[in-house]
Amino acid sequence: MSASKPTLLLEHYLKALRLPTMLREYGKLAEVCRQERADYQTYLLQLTERELSDREVRSAERRVKAARFPVLKTLDTFDFSAQPSINRELVLELMRGEYVQKRQNVLLCGNSGTGKTHLATALAHASCLQGRRVRFYTCTGLVTELLEKREERQMERVLGQLERHQLLVLDELGFVPFTKAGAELLFEVVSRAYERTSLIVTTNLPFEQWTEVMGSERLTGALLDRLTHHVHILEANGDSYRLKESRGRVAKGVPARRGRESS
Ligand code: ADP
Ligand code: MG
Repeated sequence: MSASKPTLLLEHYLKALRLPTMLREYGKLAEVCRQERADYQTYLLQLTERELSDREVRSAERRVKAARFPVLKTLDTFDFSAQPSINRELVLELMRGEYVQKRQNVLLCGNSGTGKTHLATALAHASCLQGRRVRFYTCTGLVTELLEKREERQMERVLGQLERHQLLVLDELGFVPFTKAGAELLFEVVSRAYERTSLIVTTNLPFEQWTEVMGSERLTGALLDRLTHHVHILEANGDSYRLKESRGRVAKGVPARRGRESS
């Protein structure tokens, strides 16, 4: 049976208006509404609601993809009992995302393997679902990219792109010391983000040692000043989860996983 002219036209218009969910659902829903004797407004309401909710899901997926998380982690897989030093109430409060609205920062400090990257990712992921533009970087990754872009005279463009985000994750500050140029670029990012873009920074270093990575006391002071003006600090001082996990495996006689995970 060939489709009638109104049906063909309707489908054409729904495509032209970019309403894919309405296009997919209008027939099925019409049948349901007919059976339930729902009126025209109810039918249209339900159809538009489906379009809207699908659209929200699609754009959240796009934002999560654009954030480029190295591995997607969420809070439901985080075991607080394994890391009692983490302030759970503060994590739950931060998950609500008000700090992003207020352009405040989060600093996650602690030894390797204490769940800093996991929590930073979970917070940033929640922020994506709340409609924010988010981007995840390792500090070295970001600095390397900026140095490269500077060579190509594209640095301003990249800094401009960073500014269009509402939340940036700067993971692993302190793993590798920066060159002078690198430290200045990191400072530039933090400085431009000040009171405009929220930052989540993870680090294994106490503040006293930041100068060692940044190379200059003056730059470190200025960076810390901006970063910590409006900041929520989460500290993890327990044992490494990775270490505990592999010890558990060894105890059970299961071979350790191969390959290296980043910290
Ligand atoms: P860090 O960034 O502090 O070095 P990660 O966040 O990378 O640590 O954690 C290392 C690994 O252990 C990751 O796979 C992470 O998901 C897991 N992990 C760490 N802490 C926890 C926890 N409390 N509950 C569940 N998984 C955890
Ligand atoms: Mg890490």
